[in-house]
Amino acid sequence: MSHHYDVVIVGAGISGAALAYELARYTNIESIGIIEKYEDIATLNSKGTSNSQTIHVGDIETNYTLPKAAITKRTAKMVEKYCLAHSYENEIIFSHQKMALGVGDDEVEFLLQRYEEFSELFPYLEVWDKETLKILEPRVVYDANGNERPENIVAIGTKDQWTTVDYGKMAKSLIDNAKKEPNTRVDLFVNEQVLTIEKNTTRGYTLHTKEKTFTADFIVVNAGAHSLFLAHAMGYGQEYACLPMAGSFYLTTQKLLNGKVYMIQNPKLPFAALHGDPDILAEGNTRFGPTALMLPKLERYKNGTYLDFWKTLRLDSNVVSALWKLLKDSEIRNYILRNFIFEVPFFGKRFFLHDARKIVPSLQLHEYEYAQGFGGVRPQVIDKKQRKLILGEASINTGEGIIFNMTPSPGATSCLGNAQRDLKSIVNYLGKTFDEQRFNDELTDGEYCALKEPIELQKQRVNKIREAMHAHEKEYY
Ligand SMILES: Cc1cc2nc3c(=O)[nH]c(=O)nc-3n(C[C@H](O)[C@H](O)[C@H](O)COP(=O)(O)OP(=O)(O)OC[C@H]3O[C@@H](n4cnc5c(N)ncnc54)[C@H](O)[C@@H]3O)c2cc1C
Repeated sequence: MSHHYDVVIVGAGISGAALAYELARYTNIESIGIIEKYEDIATLNSKGTSNSQTIHVGDIETNYTLPKAAITKRTAKMVEKYCLAHSYENEIIFSHQKMALGVGDDEVEFLLQRYEEFSELFPYLEVWDKETLKILEPRVVYDANGNERPENIVAIGTKDQWTTVDYGKMAKSLIDNAKKEPNTRVDLFVNEQVLTIEKNTTRGYTLHTKEKTFTADFIVVNAGAHSLFLAHAMGYGQEYACLPMAGSFYLTTQKLLNGKVYMIQNPKLPFAALHGDPDILAEGNTRFGPTALMLPKLERYKNGTYLDFWKTLRLDSNVVSALWKLLKDSEIRNYILRNFIFEVPFFGKRFFLHDARKIVPSLQLHEYEYAQGFGGVRPQVIDKKQRKLILGEASINTGEGIIFNMTPSPGATSCLGNAQRDLKSIVNYLGKTFDEQRFNDELTDGEYCALKEPIELQKQRVNKIREAMHAHEKEYY
């Protein structure tokens, strides 16, 4: 059997689903085929239990620069606008209090400066001192004896934003909604693993699964780490290698935190700092993580991707040099070692306690367990020419009617933004049209909203906290 489509998307995770939706709704492309290896949509990294369920806007992610935060804010808003337009509140999208917490004088000062710098982009941000935190998030303040933690702490955060998404459910909704578009045929094929892709001599490409053959004028491979695997097989992306970094979680047996609590990111570390989140799939109990462990396989909790790992790693002197650059830094080395121990039964949980207590000083061993079956793999990409790890997502647009996307965090947040980027390439290549006006009306926000309060007032508040801290220091020492 052969099936022909204008566009074939390989992979039905959140990236593939977002692209199908945008192509069906905002372009005049007539037929889209989505080919998925497993039995359902979003069974790997986009599944709700695989990732941290966070909309990474850039407001509390302290490793984002202001320009990067402006970009992520735009794409994050698209997720929000999509969900609200379809009334998915409290079904797919959720609102929690969220904050970045600074512990100790250096981190406190860092956060206060960041608050001043980022307030214009995120006017809803508030700065919370220890007294306010006692009310909003008491477990970050008190130790097991009910005493206040001795360090200075401050947080920047918000109480009234959309913060959390079940990306697995969102992926399903995107494909359902794409199928409802009247002028586009959208077919989903599950249990069909794309084994090979060949360029046709005349036009487009042919894809083979075990039992089916597909042809397409344009292909987008949104297959996670396997995107690079398929690119390499076709001779593309030879300058990249893939380093799969698994992330696991620890889950508490009750709700410890009222909202998301993020830590200050060590700028040297390429992976997200430990955070605590209310898990929307575990009755709001707190999920701590993710950890970061290099795994010699491309998919978590699935068999048979060890060989694919070696094929996409393409171990050579450039890859070794990139890894060496990471490992020779003692902070990164320690971090990797600690994260390895976090995965070891019995010891892992005990080691983890030390790190998690930076967020919840009173945390006890009996309050949390290793979250079995949770977590996924981030397909981090190594740029072999530059001998370094690329920190975010990577996309290989060949300019020949085929694109390959590798999407580690925050790939779920940026799914609709990435899809828009690919949509533009597709319509240009195929000579189709894009209803950008409708896209902007429905999925993008206007310019930044007005400041909630004058900057001068915000500055006064920050200075007050600084003064109070210094007064406390004098008293304390
Ligand atoms: C621990 C962890 C925490 C994270 N937290 C966040 C977060 O809080 N916020 C955020 O925005 N992002 C987060 N991410 C990142 C986010 O989960 C990913 O960026 C996102 O899920 C990637 O979606 P995707 O569709 O590109 O890939 P995937 O969800 O991996 O989907 C790829 C699909 O391709 C299919 N496939 C693969 N090979 C083939 C083939 N040959 N033929 C057919 N189909 C194939 C797979 O079966 C799969 O369904 C996190 C990731 C991890 C691991």
